[in-house]
Amino acid sequence: MLRLTDLFGRLLDLVFPERCAGCGGAGGLLCPACLARLRPYPPEGPTPGLDGMSVAWLYDGPVRQAVHHLKYRRRRRVAEALGDALAASVGAPPADALVPVPLHAGRLAERGFNQAEELARRLGRRWGLPICASGLARGRDTGHQARLGRADRQVNVAGAFIWRGPGAPPARVLLVDDVLTTGATLAACAEALRAAGAHEVRAVALARSLARPGGTDYAKIVKSQQP
Ligand SMILES: [Zn+2]
Repeated sequence: MLRLTDLFGRLLDLVFPERCAGCGGAGGLLCPACLARLRPYPPEGPTPGLDGMSVAWLYDGPVRQAVHHLKYRRRRRVAEALGDALAASVGAPPADALVPVPLHAGRLAERGFNQAEELARRLGRRWGLPICASGLARGRDTGHQARLGRADRQVNVAGAFIWRGPGAPPARVLLVDDVLTTGATLAACAEALRAAGAHEVRAVALARSLARPGGTDYAKIVKSQQP
């Protein structure tokens, strides 16, 4: 059921379509003050299943707010501001094409767009790379994973993706996602791409969640980031 505060928020979005998705103020879809408040995600060791991974920010504050506006308030254009900031924040990794993490058909129908694909289009424009948005498909709905731990997520998404062409995937793929937690979804995508002939699979994402199940050293990372 739509809550009254959500309804009010959607009304505001209609009346002020350019208001900042981070703070609600003026100054663009992601205002300079919110951009300055984004906390960089600390560099990490190799991500299992991927040849490389770039995450721009901790999933917190303005980026959390902006992703909420993009996905749940369906403010599609927020992806432009987020994509531009992401392209400016991480260097273009070596890749032949961008592949957005697909949404299940049911979710796509509900939301009207795939937020990862919107981000990929913006990144593609900035980095001069083509997009392959239809080759990788989600075979079944993996449901909401928020309450699952790392091992359960791996089981939940294993085999959930398939490359359906036409033709083989690009040799060097750059997967694009909005927010990741354990990385299990990206690893499952990479597996499907490699099975179909991709040689290298890297990934880029806006942010990584603070509530990572099973993350042992994560509290330390977050603590070291406190101002
Ligand atoms: Zn703002």
